[in-house]
Amino acid sequence: MYDAKFVYTNFSFEIVTEEKKKVVALLSGGLDSQLAVRMMQEQGFDVSAVAIKTPFCDFDCGRGCGFEIRERADDLNVNLKTVYLGDEYIEMLKHPKYGTGAGFNPCIDCRAMMFEAAKKHMDEIGAEFIISGEVLGQRPMSQHAPALRTIEKESDLVGKIVRPLSAGLLPETDPEKEGLIRRENLGMIKGRTRKNQLEMAKKYGIENPPNAGGGCLLTDPAFGLKAKDLFEHTQTPTINDIDLLKIGRHFRLDEETKFVVGRNKDENEMIKSMALSDDILLEARDYVGPVSILRGKNTAQYIKFAASVTLRYSDAPKDGQAFVVSSGEKSKLEILADCAKEEYYIKFRI
Ligand code: SF4
Repeated sequence: MYDAKFVYTNFSFEIVTEEKKKVVALLSGGLDSQLAVRMMQEQGFDVSAVAIKTPFCDFDCGRGCGFEIRERADDLNVNLKTVYLGDEYIEMLKHPKYGTGAGFNPCIDCRAMMFEAAKKHMDEIGAEFIISGEVLGQRPMSQHAPALRTIEKESDLVGKIVRPLSAGLLPETDPEKEGLIRRENLGMIKGRTRKNQLEMAKKYGIENPPNAGGGCLLTDPAFGLKAKDLFEHTQTPTINDIDLLKIGRHFRLDEETKFVVGRNKDENEMIKSMALSDDILLEARDYVGPVSILRGKNTAQYIKFAASVTLRYSDAPKDGQAFVVSSGEKSKLEILADCAKEEYYIKFRI
């Protein structure tokens, strides 16, 4: 992109075009990262956005975030590059160097990976620095000053990350030292209140600013428990294992075996579509109810248990017996099962 300037020379003037300096923005789709983009555009930068997908913040998870982030990028008039962190993210989550937060969220390691991806893009397009919508003190794990410094070091970006909303409160960055940006044009926002950001959204004409809080499943305590259990019991979880965490009621039966019960029709369909060759699917034969899945090394020894719990969540009478169909790759059985009593199975619930 170019900026046009009128330059006066000897009583005449000519139009000179100057290439705009490039900046890479980590775009989450939230209000803060949009404001950061607007602030840099206002200061004459050509902003190019990078959005990061992980298995735990999947744009196609049904919440429409992928569509939304594309729309946000269009509204902001920026190019959007989407980067998927898959296997490397799972590897990191096995042993996050800086630990996890209240859920199973490895925010510091995660942010460092995101900035590394943004750095690649910065190098590719010859951008000057990276911006993000981080606000000092807004999030307990990754947005206090020492964490921000750690993230810069880990991503090898010391001095190259500008957080426009809070930069007035943070140490001077390279672009400031080089005169590319000026401190008086940067924000001094701190903490969790969104008052300043909502005023800025009005100023920049950002309509329907999204609510605070992202779509990261790892910060959700209930999901965090299931993810922690999976990582504790599986050497390297697959995307299928992780997708299964997003649906159903989960039960840990032993070190190597788990059981998941669908909660509605959609989940039942998803469970069927995720079944692998060694998994066993169960369903009440004569009543409306869940599809359940047994996965792991010792599935055979839990079939009766799984059948009676599957029956418990179906419309079958709670005090009787009914048939449950269990199907694996090579076998199909009809099991006459008792409807399980809650005290019998609830201790296995994750
Ligand atoms: S909330 Fe989730 S996506 Fe955001 S930094 Fe933490 S782990 Fe990463």
